Amino acid sequence: MKKGLLWVLLALCTLTGCQKAPEPVEATTFAMDTVMDFTLYGDWDRERAKEVRDWMLERLGWLDGKLSATKEGSDVGQINRAGGESVEVGTPTAELLSQSLELCEVTGGALDITAYPAVKAWGFTQEEHRVPAPDELEALAQSIDYSAVRLEGDTVTLPEGMELDLGAVAKGYAGDVLAETVRASDIPSALLDLGQSTIMAVGTKPGGAPWRIGVVDPAQPGSYFAVVELEDMAMGTSGGYQRYFEQDGETYWHILDPDTAAPARSGLASVTVVSPSAFLCDGLSTALFVMGLEEGAQLWRDHPELEFEAIFVTEKGEIYRTAGLEDRFSLAEGYEGREVVVLE
Ligand code: ADP
Ligand code: MG
Repeated sequence: MKKGLLWVLLALCTLTGCQKAPEPVEATTFAMDTVMDFTLYGDWDRERAKEVRDWMLERLGWLDGKLSATKEGSDVGQINRAGGESVEVGTPTAELLSQSLELCEVTGGALDITAYPAVKAWGFTQEEHRVPAPDELEALAQSIDYSAVRLEGDTVTLPEGMELDLGAVAKGYAGDVLAETVRASDIPSALLDLGQSTIMAVGTKPGGAPWRIGVVDPAQPGSYFAVVELEDMAMGTSGGYQRYFEQDGETYWHILDPDTAAPARSGLASVTVVSPSAFLCDGLSTALFVMGLEEGAQLWRDHPELEFEAIFVTEKGEIYRTAGLEDRFSLAEGYEGREVVVLE
């Protein structure tokens, strides 16, 4: 009898979890101006998983080559140099442009993919920072207007003097495309870190528990003030602490207010967006940072169809979160005493 039980246990061990979990397949790469980290988990054929990883890297490099504003020969570069002429682009570029223009519209232009001349003027593209003069900023602000972009099928027309920048949305879009690849390959579980606080969680952690992802404290970017549980869900954070320079005692960051062409000062230090779409997390976190708490919360109330939740941290350090995060949000160790205002 005892021996029988032992055999049953041994058989169960072989079939299930008593064996050591297989090592994940990993990749680290530099793309879209940031370091990305992908980890694929599961009980699979490792060679197959490596093939999937290599295919993901290839696809990412290809997307970067199409969507980058700075890379030679990219779709976006061609549009920007077309001098008002129409340009035929590839399907992913047209698809991302279409999604982005919709988001520009929904956010009332807080997200504006034609901010590139201003981004360049502040020196954020080549990391040679400068503060443009007020009249230069005024002229730059005049030139930012997503509604002037014409997209018909795969054909894009941009008025002369304007330039596109998909930097606020491309990482997220890549996250959605790569997650599709992972799912289509029957890989049950993966964490795609697209860099700059944009994360796509595919499935759950091996074993079935949700992924637990930290949200950076903008006042202390080395620590996490909260943890969000994700399952087949993306999360993106935008904050002034991510990319900035200082001059004469002032801090200037990389998220610009399209109305002024200057760094957005809405009273927020960071915005985190949680949604099934990494594209939405990336683009909307940038937009909500520009809009500020009141307008941002109103956008959340007005657009339930966008299916997102958000966490706002003000420059004073106050924490706000939307009601839908109830089951997945908790304060991190060391922050337990902090007040969190729930937005309804
Ligand atoms: P974050 O994750 O901090 O939002 P992103 O890289 O997603 O950073 O987006 C910021 C980038 O988008 C900037 O570096 C710039 O190229 C561009 N950008 C800045 N302000 C805007 C804006 N209001 N709308 C669209 N793109 C912007
Ligand atoms: Mg963004």
